Amino acid sequence: MNVCFVTSECVPFVKTGGLADVSGALPAALARLGAKVKVFLPLYGTIDPEKFDLTFVEDLKNLPVQLGPKSVSFNVWYRQDGPTGVEYYFIDYPPYYHRSKIYTSDPDEDERFILLQDATMIILQHLRWPADILHCNDWQTSLLPAYLKMKYNWDQLFTHTRSVLSIHNIGYQGIFGYETLLKTGLPEYEFYPTGPFEFHGKFSFLKTGIVFADVINTVSETYAREIQTPEYGAGMEGVLQTRKTDLYGILNGVDNHGWNPRTDPFIPYNYNLRNLRSKLMNKQALLERLNLPFNERTPVIGVVSRLVSQKGFDLVQPLLPRLMKHRLQMVVLGTGEPSLENFFRQAAATYPQQFATHIGFNNELAHLITAGADIFLMPSRYEPCGLNQMYSLMYGTVPVVRKTGGLADTVIDYYEHPDRGNGFTFKEYSPVALYQALERAISLFPQKAAWRELMKRGMKSDFSWKRSAQKYLQLYETALRKSSREMDLV
Ligand code: ADP
Repeated sequence: MNVCFVTSECVPFVKTGGLADVSGALPAALARLGAKVKVFLPLYGTIDPEKFDLTFVEDLKNLPVQLGPKSVSFNVWYRQDGPTGVEYYFIDYPPYYHRSKIYTSDPDEDERFILLQDATMIILQHLRWPADILHCNDWQTSLLPAYLKMKYNWDQLFTHTRSVLSIHNIGYQGIFGYETLLKTGLPEYEFYPTGPFEFHGKFSFLKTGIVFADVINTVSETYAREIQTPEYGAGMEGVLQTRKTDLYGILNGVDNHGWNPRTDPFIPYNYNLRNLRSKLMNKQALLERLNLPFNERTPVIGVVSRLVSQKGFDLVQPLLPRLMKHRLQMVVLGTGEPSLENFFRQAAATYPQQFATHIGFNNELAHLITAGADIFLMPSRYEPCGLNQMYSLMYGTVPVVRKTGGLADTVIDYYEHPDRGNGFTFKEYSPVALYQALERAISLFPQKAAWRELMKRGMKSDFSWKRSAQKYLQLYETALRKSSREMDLV
């Protein structure tokens, strides 16, 4: 299987969020399962070719792309990863990609990502590499399904190529004016109210991808269903409903090397299922570090999160005095909106024996909280996949989460399913519902045997990328079964 994976960010080269982690891990996992994978991304100014040992490709020099009336020429840098054989192609055009941020509100933001997509197709043509799958990610690469069917369909190289669009967060839709369509080389006559390129009078990259992709997926099954509703669809629910039979959910995996309690270099005591005593020593180390008193019998609730409205911490605010009456401690690591940062700072000042807050981004402390806490809290308003609940399960830290998106697909409520529950969930977005879930967790905590069983269930979870990659291979097979006749009917 030949897979062309196109992305606007990819670990270890450039990262702003979860897409970079997926782009770093999934191609490698696919390659380990036998796929041949080429990854395409921009050469941002922050990616140092020397540091990453990139090679300038002489045969792919000064390749022209037409963006409406404008013509630009790009170069290509290359690297092949030794262990997996994954090949990386970096699109080099400094006027577009040497900016202070990788995503901008500059007037040529559309052109920056049109170039990425045209350059990908042009490189494939030069290489004469028959991609079976063109895997697109988020709006920055969402024109490619339409390119395959309408702009590059004259080239027989692509006759058997099918497209997959992965939506990592429906909130970002690449919406521009009609003029942008004129820069893409896609047919203007398809722009009419409710037509494939039109979205409320504008041109949307993401809508284009949703309409033309052979199959679509999001990063959890529940989020795939949720985004078809007005509450979660951010206006795209109607378009998504028209593609519902081609819309799937596949959970992201977890990087087993970075997050593994047996080997984690950031925690003072490594541990496993049979050695839970060492987890307790991490709890003690965590509390010492944050200047809180340690008591084995006091449950510690951990939070590691961006402090933004998506994450649901406005539910905690009205509960705090009531919560702090319980025998419990809470440790919060995060950074984000000033009002939430201040709330958590204030909580630590008000309850110095029970509450500790660290504002900032600190990977080492994130690992220590995940290992040292007893309970991990994620009351998200929405959560496409979520990583922290998977980390906490693997670390035997029992999650309390709102039942949405990827949280609903990974955390099973202990009271609803005593035989297989691995955490506590609540559905209604309300402080009361959150309080009740936390109370259920706190009241089970002293029951040592039951709690240990809960921890162990989590620690046995399989969130490997191998498992996710196997599902992506099945998704690719589904896409390949789409006939070219169906393509004509779009
Ligand atoms: P999102 O991508 O919406 O922020 P995820 O749960 O998918 O949420 O991933 C968040 C990632 O960022 C996790 O790896 C988490 O540990 C990390 N993270 C978030 N905030 C911090 C922080 N303040 N310090 C260290 N790591 C953090």
